Amino acid sequence: MARYTGPVCRLCRTEQKKLMLKGDRCKSDKCPINKKRAAPGKDPKARMGKRSDYGIQLREKQKLKRIYGMQEKQFKLFFERALRMPGITGENLFALLERRLDNVVYRLRFAVSRSQARQLVLHGHVTVNGKRVNIPSYLVKREDEIAIDEKSKDIALVKDALKEFGKSGVMPWLRLDPDAMKGAFLAVPRRNDITDLADIKEQMIVELYSK
Ligand code: SF4
Repeated sequence: MARYTGPVCRLCRTEQKKLMLKGDRCKSDKCPINKKRAAPGKDPKARMGKRSDYGIQLREKQKLKRIYGMQEKQFKLFFERALRMPGITGENLFALLERRLDNVVYRLRFAVSRSQARQLVLHGHVTVNGKRVNIPSYLVKREDEIAIDEKSKDIALVKDALKEFGKSGVMPWLRLDPDAMKGAFLAVPRRNDITDLADIKEQMIVELYSK
């Protein structure tokens, strides 16, 4: 599947939001959003003033899609699956996105960004319940154990990423044993649990796809 290969920070500048796509750099002074620079040639305030309802809904969808590092086709498939599930579609969508294996690997601090987590999964460094899984969109289930493969435990980027655990822990629906490089997905999070994405207005995404 074709993936975006352009400058990653431009995506944040387009959305005028820190999408946290580059790991440690996102928390440093090097982040261009901290410097409040707009995308080249574009005045964000002028663009905001011109946005239609459709434009606002579209931007909200683009933000969420980019945060989870997905392409349009796959994101739409996730949405359609969320729509078929009982309950509130927007909340179902978040539940599915959080169950993605690359996201869980990122949330468990095995990688500093979702794109790095995706690479770890693609290259076969991750196991689920003891079996190697190399599909980033694989949906993790409650009580699944996610680990770095025995042969991959010396990878420096995993060791470096795990240092973040000491600073901020993991989300409450996860459990991590950093020394063993393994963790567990304890439960599917509720929408309110996903506090770092509290500002995403998923209802706008539902309205966009309902047109
Ligand atoms: Fe976005 Fe991170 Fe780049 Fe900042 S450093 S613009 S948060 S990807």
